[in-house]
Amino acid sequence: MSSTPTAPKNFIRQIIEADLASGKHRGIATRFPPEPNGYLHIGHAKSIVLNFGVAKDLAGTCNLRFDDTNPHKENIEYVESIQEDVRWLGYDWGDRLYFASDYFEKLYAYAVELIEKGRAFVCDLDAEQMRQFRGTLTEPGKESPFRDRSVEENLDLFKRMRAGEFPDGTRVLRAKIDMASPNINLRDPVLYRIRHGVIHHQTGAEWCLYPMYDYTHPISDALEGITHSLCTLEFEDHRPLYDWVLQNVSVPCRPRQIEFSRLNVQYTVMSKRKLTQLVEEGYVRGWDDPRMPTIAGMRRRGYAPESIRDFCERIGVTKADNMVEMSLLENCVRDDLNRRAPRAMAVLRPLKVVIENYPEGGEERLRAPNHPQDESMGTREIPFAREVYIDRDDFREQAPRKFKRLITGGEVRLRNAYVIRCDEVIKDGQDEIVELRCSYDPETLGANPADRKVSGVIHWVSVKHALPAEIRLYDRLFTHPTPDAAREEGRSFTDYLNADSLHELTRCQVEPSLAGAAPGDFFQFEREGYFCVDGKDSVAERLVFNRTVTLRDTWAKIEQEHRR
Ligand code: ATP
Ligand code: MG
Repeated sequence: MSSTPTAPKNFIRQIIEADLASGKHRGIATRFPPEPNGYLHIGHAKSIVLNFGVAKDLAGTCNLRFDDTNPHKENIEYVESIQEDVRWLGYDWGDRLYFASDYFEKLYAYAVELIEKGRAFVCDLDAEQMRQFRGTLTEPGKESPFRDRSVEENLDLFKRMRAGEFPDGTRVLRAKIDMASPNINLRDPVLYRIRHGVIHHQTGAEWCLYPMYDYTHPISDALEGITHSLCTLEFEDHRPLYDWVLQNVSVPCRPRQIEFSRLNVQYTVMSKRKLTQLVEEGYVRGWDDPRMPTIAGMRRRGYAPESIRDFCERIGVTKADNMVEMSLLENCVRDDLNRRAPRAMAVLRPLKVVIENYPEGGEERLRAPNHPQDESMGTREIPFAREVYIDRDDFREQAPRKFKRLITGGEVRLRNAYVIRCDEVIKDGQDEIVELRCSYDPETLGANPADRKVSGVIHWVSVKHALPAEIRLYDRLFTHPTPDAAREEGRSFTDYLNADSLHELTRCQVEPSLAGAAPGDFFQFEREGYFCVDGKDSVAERLVFNRTVTLRDTWAKIEQEHRR
């Protein structure tokens, strides 16, 4: 039995290892069972890393199984995006790609078996009556008047339900368990319902009878030989039904369901219904909008799969409800990019600087390291000339002493280049600063910064050589740490959308070494953060970058503001 030393031993891992050690199982089999009714999000990543991770570490297998029993909400775009995202996260299901709909025929046969054993019946109560009969948490339910139908009648009706003889909502197949059970899930739960007129993405128009999740899931697990069926805590109360189904039909094995808590992350939402609403109502620009907590959004934003896996390992797996801070995820992303991202210079809000004592038409090629700590990443050439852009924010006409950038009459070092002094500020008719006139000291190239007392170091690009670019800055999608709680306050979660979550800076200038940067390439723009080339909108003539994450953690400040 092998186990990677880094994988933390969560309680599920301990159970599984114990089952292997005791010989209860010779090998383990898990599955990741998404419903193809939306894109995967960071919560799913937790489940993927757990299921695929444990299988990988313990030489087991993990199936990808689409839980596709709700055809009216599902579609093939989701089926495809889910496969892409799981693969991108670094996992491989080999030839074990399954659909619950693969088992429709078998599920039907098991339902017939239940009817024959007197453990399921066709019920004609409508939805409203069913609700009334179900009882409450404190009161037992009442038995359906159809509960004692004969096996023959049930078999006949069930066959005719499948044949399409009855309209939607007129009849269901129910398990015959216990209307007085304190667990409402055991009060004769519905196993099958009629749905006409939906075209299923896998089975087309073949079926008008669809099995419920609670019935489908245990049987699918058993048919695939799953040993440990890992799911989130809301299914804890469904476990007795999971076990009941497996006990009462002749499936080949008895998987064990184990629950763990869902991941929730602050300042975002994780329910697919809500994410769908954000996309459909145009609050974001699609499922892969870099502000979305989806895997596709994070990929486009520039998060590496390693960072997401690292995050999932760090948060661990427990049964305690958890709300994780966004800063934890961002720290994982930052740690990774700090190591791997080549450095470059980009000016987000350009202000032109003319260096008057630099020769007209002159230029030189300076060299800069691609990474301050990692020499193996090499160096690059950066052209310097008489006119450069600096960031507007790096200049003040007058500023407090702690302003470590350029001021009128003051000096600053241009990163990897010379020290300049600001001699004159040029303004337009509206009193807007349009240009700075500066002079440089030719003796300061590469000089030890300590030799010369300047207030700071700023980044820049040569006007003549720079490439125009668009840079998109993202902020949290919501202004409230738990927008999901909005309902309790009588508001909609969309009331808490952050109106300032996207800033598009369209007149940026980046250093010429970035020409040819391909979608997904990532950089640290010095002093600005980590950025990646957008996978959709960037073209060679006009690069578009997404800010992946800022250089430092900005969440503490946001939290403080929220508390105020
Ligand atoms: P939603 O309730 O938003 O529709 P879901 O749980 O129904 O989400 P599924 O596609 O059924 O989504 O989820 C597939 C698997 O991922 C399930 O095993 C589920 O428990 C797990 N999962 C979903 N959301 C989370 C989460 N936030 N944290 C951990 N696991 C999750
Ligand atoms: Mg689900």
